[in-house]
Amino acid sequence: MQKTFKKIFLIIILSISIGIFMVRNESLLMRNNPFSEYKCYIPVTYAVGTVDPRFGVSQEKFVSLMQEAEQKWETALGRDVFQMENDGRVKVNLVYDERQLTTENLKNIMLDVDNNKEKADQLVANYESLRAQLEEKNKIFETQTSRYNQDIKDYTNALEKYQSDLKEYEKEVAYWNSQGGAPKEVFIELTEQKKDLDAQVKDLKKQESALNALRTVLEKKQQELNDMVAQVNGTIGAVNQTATKANSEIADYNETQAARGEFETGLYMNDNGQESIDIFQFFDDEDLLAVLIHEMGHALGLAHAENPTAIMYPKLINQSAEITPDDIAFFQTTCVR
Ligand SMILES: [Zn+2]
Repeated sequence: MQKTFKKIFLIIILSISIGIFMVRNESLLMRNNPFSEYKCYIPVTYAVGTVDPRFGVSQEKFVSLMQEAEQKWETALGRDVFQMENDGRVKVNLVYDERQLTTENLKNIMLDVDNNKEKADQLVANYESLRAQLEEKNKIFETQTSRYNQDIKDYTNALEKYQSDLKEYEKEVAYWNSQGGAPKEVFIELTEQKKDLDAQVKDLKKQESALNALRTVLEKKQQELNDMVAQVNGTIGAVNQTATKANSEIADYNETQAARGEFETGLYMNDNGQESIDIFQFFDDEDLLAVLIHEMGHALGLAHAENPTAIMYPKLINQSAEITPDDIAFFQTTCVR
């Protein structure tokens, strides 16, 4: 009887003290309340801490990205898990050091690579258009050259005919001279032959000057073609130079990217109840959002996930700023009773 009374008394005392403790320590109430559906300390209240201006992110932008990260978690989980408050318990800071400097270096290299790629594309386009022009001109040149060669052949044939006609004429004249003169009809015949020979000479001269003119044109075209070949070759040189530069920049990029991968992008800390999120580096708003989502996940109570596509994967390099089904499952097992 007495024992039972003692037990009841003890239970009463205990529940009174627990009651007092619960009222006085709200945080413990939330964490340990057996009626709460959460094992984690929810909702997580957070606030903007210190923002280094060297990041070039305005306070408003930072706040809106944090709200976006909150929204992403809450939409994915279908419940209210974060709350931005002026004296929120997790202070979110942008901490500038050599890590962001490396990231900026990387950004510049990427910009350079892009510019170089554009330049290389332009050079290749120039080269291709020049080569097409060269081929067209070369075709015309070859047609003209084969015409010139045909004209030379015709001219040579005409010259040979003339020379043989002339020989025959001279032979006949010499014969009739040795006979002391030609009869009248032979004389007329010879005069006709001489007229024909003169006409042939006139024709040959005309052909010769036409050939000379064509040769001058062809020589000029040949020079043009040579210049163009030199230009095309020069373009190839420039393309190669640009490609070499781009390659060395890509090597630089890989090296810097590897160095960046070893750095922490952000860090969630709970130092005896003093909670903070420090963010050290990001490329752009999207990247900052991804880091915020990841670190806020830690603030929720989540550790690192194993699936590389999860936002809670330890390295943030290739993920998009989205919460994956793995992250949601992780939350369910970690935070929900
Ligand atoms: Zn982490």
